[in-house]
Amino acid sequence: MSDTPVIGVLALQGDVREHLVALATADAVARPVRRPEELAEVDGLVIPGGESTTISKLAVLFGLMEPLRERVRAGMPVYGTCAGLILLAEKILDPRSGQETVGGIDMIVRRNAFGRQNESFEAAVEVRGVASPVDGVFIRAPWVESVGASVEVLAEHDGHIVAVRQGNALATSFHPELTGDHRLHELFVAMVRAVRAE
Ligand code: GLN
Repeated sequence: MSDTPVIGVLALQGDVREHLVALATADAVARPVRRPEELAEVDGLVIPGGESTTISKLAVLFGLMEPLRERVRAGMPVYGTCAGLILLAEKILDPRSGQETVGGIDMIVRRNAFGRQNESFEAAVEVRGVASPVDGVFIRAPWVESVGASVEVLAEHDGHIVAVRQGNALATSFHPELTGDHRLHELFVAMVRAVRAE
């Protein structure tokens, strides 16, 4: 087995290409994942930003929702950004009707919590485990309303939770893939390596 972890990016909708680039920079082999067979071959998965309702609908349509739930339940490392964070929530406060999630993180999220597209903004965010603040890009970003006892809060912005981790699942409200700073992807690649080494 080669030492380099293979990390998929769920490629149904959203900013897939930016994540593929960020993961490759962080020393992983990065691949788009659209089919259950492709999901079966990766050591970890990124769920990108985009539109969570669309990603959710397409995941059901492509027969990926159940395989995703199974792999996340079985401990596959997963990292969700923005819409991806919403997909990892056990519960959405304001779901579009029928909107399903993969789950994996015991949290309740609020979609578009920081406002609409034209209220997108950037802010320096201190993230636990990352030495200095990251440049947080927030685009119609969700926040985490509440978390269960087994969820570690990694970052807050304006008193709202914007980064969390539960076991092998990591999620941020913001988009590190859109900046040149790949330290969160490095953190995720390290999580994938740790699971592979077990
Ligand atoms: N508001 C979007 C949603 O509900 C997420 C936005 C994003 O990923 N940039 O899916």
